Amino acid sequence: MPRPILATVHPEALRHNLQRARDCAPDARVWAVVKANAYGHGIERCFDALRSADGFALLDLAEAERLRALDWRGPIQLLEGVFEPRDLELCSRLHLWHTVHCNEQIDWLAAHKTQVPHRVFLKLNSGMNRLGFTPAAFRSAWARLNALPQVDEITLMTHFSDADGPRGIAHQVAAFEAATADLPGERTLCNSAALLRHPRDALRGEGVQNLAADWVREGIALYGSAPDFPARSAADWGLQPAMTLASRLIGLQSLQAGDTVGYGSAFTADGPMRIGVVACGYADGYPRHAPNGTPVLVDGVRTRVVGRVSMDMVTVDLGPVPAAGMGSEVVLWGRAASGAVLPIDEVASAAGTIGYELMCAVAARVPFSA
Ligand SMILES: *Cc1c(COP(=O)(O)O)cnc(C)c1O
Repeated sequence: MPRPILATVHPEALRHNLQRARDCAPDARVWAVVKANAYGHGIERCFDALRSADGFALLDLAEAERLRALDWRGPIQLLEGVFEPRDLELCSRLHLWHTVHCNEQIDWLAAHKTQVPHRVFLKLNSGMNRLGFTPAAFRSAWARLNALPQVDEITLMTHFSDADGPRGIAHQVAAFEAATADLPGERTLCNSAALLRHPRDALRGEGVQNLAADWVREGIALYGSAPDFPARSAADWGLQPAMTLASRLIGLQSLQAGDTVGYGSAFTADGPMRIGVVACGYADGYPRHAPNGTPVLVDGVRTRVVGRVSMDMVTVDLGPVPAAGMGSEVVLWGRAASGAVLPIDEVASAAGTIGYELMCAVAARVPFSA
């Protein structure tokens, strides 16, 4: 029998979450963001459930090739654009739409020989200071691109740094509006947090009626994690977990007061208790920093991690689940057989990280069902 750890992707949850994005922006087209191998879920595993999206956005050219190999003929956007001139040949061949965020990328395009002009996304640095042209340089970049025979339509794009937090997006929306006011072309601004937290209607009247704009770029919410946890949970947003990481108990111990568990004796029993040993550790992608008290489901019942997470095992308190024994189901995050849900965001938050990181970090040794 293989080691009992298993990750499962839930296509119906992906479909549901995509529909939630559509409900939030009924007039916009939705990019399903599938970078990082669909946030760790697997592009091929998610493709069918997400194929009603209007396009797929990612940044690795090999992932774009995988989507075309699935016979996806619709739009694919490279969120960071090309990394070197010859990447443009692949863009021509596979009809990839690509972001242009710096002058070098315009130079490469100007030197590129193509039959078919490219659809590009001109990126404004509206304050995040990662990729994009400054407001002062944006207009001349647009004019240069617009004059190139290699370029077809130009969509105007920016990305928010604080859509999930207290600073919000108003300052960046204002910068975007000012830099793009009289430029033609479609717009794309929102990630999940902007789409969920700053829906178009709430902003109407502030001069940003096209915030949801023509395209929204939906990543994390598709996978059922709240972009702004703990302010709001996935359930608050009506999102369902798209991934379950589950394993089983492969050992049991009975402790007396004063007994300790695991490396570093990081947990000490204050009375008699049963603990279970789970076949899952940091080499599976479970966060090593998950402290005592991190939630976990055993046979669908919520309990807690006790002791330090090790490479292949984690230990849990069986106090709340006296009937649990060898082989009992353990859900590290996601949905239990009983239907009980443990949000990935709660586990991430306990471990000092975010749902994004946990889902992307499921290790290659973990098998996926179906
Ligand atoms: C990853 C990414 C997104 C999606 O962000 P989420 O927070 O996962 O919704 C949108 N736009 C760009 C440019 C990205 O890199």
